[in-house]
Amino acid sequence: MNDELNDEQTRQLRALLEDRFNTLWNEIGSELDEAAKERFLQIAGEAQDLEDRSLADLITDLNMTLVDKHVQETRDINSALIRIDKGIYGTCDDCGESIGLDRLNAYPTASRCLHCQEAYEKTHIEGMHSNL
Ligand SMILES: [Zn+2]
Repeated sequence: MNDELNDEQTRQLRALLEDRFNTLWNEIGSELDEAAKERFLQIAGEAQDLEDRSLADLITDLNMTLVDKHVQETRDINSALIRIDKGIYGTCDDCGESIGLDRLNAYPTASRCLHCQEAYEKTHIEGMHSNL
């Protein structure tokens, strides 16, 4: 399958990822209690960079399981954005083949092609949320 992303497709997927990232942060913000929110907003004001992981680390440190799932997703988005910056976005981590635009449109954070993701989940992830 030779369908590497062109610049416009990459730009659209990046916008999709950034939108989702912002939505998640809003949700995370509404899930925090007041004290945590205050601390969150203070640090959020200091660290606007999408690649700055200190926010996600803070949430994890505060051990808020309610927001854990959302934080995990923001981390996936973060690494997808970093892959875009490195120019390796859309390439399978395992086999190096193109992940494919259809799959990326459905799962913009995908870091493996469908074939490798299936193989990975069979061997590594038992009972976890599927990213297929
Ligand atoms: Zn692969």
